[in-house]
Amino acid sequence: MKNIATGDKLVDWFFKKVIEALNEDIDEIHLQERVQDDGVDLCGLLKDDEIYLSTSRNQSPDALAKVLLHEALHFLFDDLSEEEVLFLEDTLWAKLSDQQKEILKFYITNLVTKSPAPN
Ligand SMILES: [Zn+2]
Repeated sequence: MKNIATGDKLVDWFFKKVIEALNEDIDEIHLQERVQDDGVDLCGLLKDDEIYLSTSRNQSPDALAKVLLHEALHFLFDDLSEEEVLFLEDTLWAKLSDQQKEILKFYITNLVTKSPAPN
């Protein structure tokens, strides 16, 4: 982890927890054009230990990785409000190392199950 870590122990601890959740607890990551819940278009969704990411709402690998981080934080801290998760997401994203961001992108490109686009 020497070259990957930021050296900020708090940031690195959060990153480790996120990776553990993605490795051990999240069953699948779905990349689909649209993600909806109750008819509302979302950037991402955590549902039944699976993460759904919208490719129409997140048009760059960075944007997708940031939403993946967001949904993993929901999983880890399920009693936090949406505003608190957004705050944590923004704060962590600003401090993650480039290598940590690359690792999050790796999860999207390599562990993902491509779901057929909803009709
Ligand atoms: Zn959220």
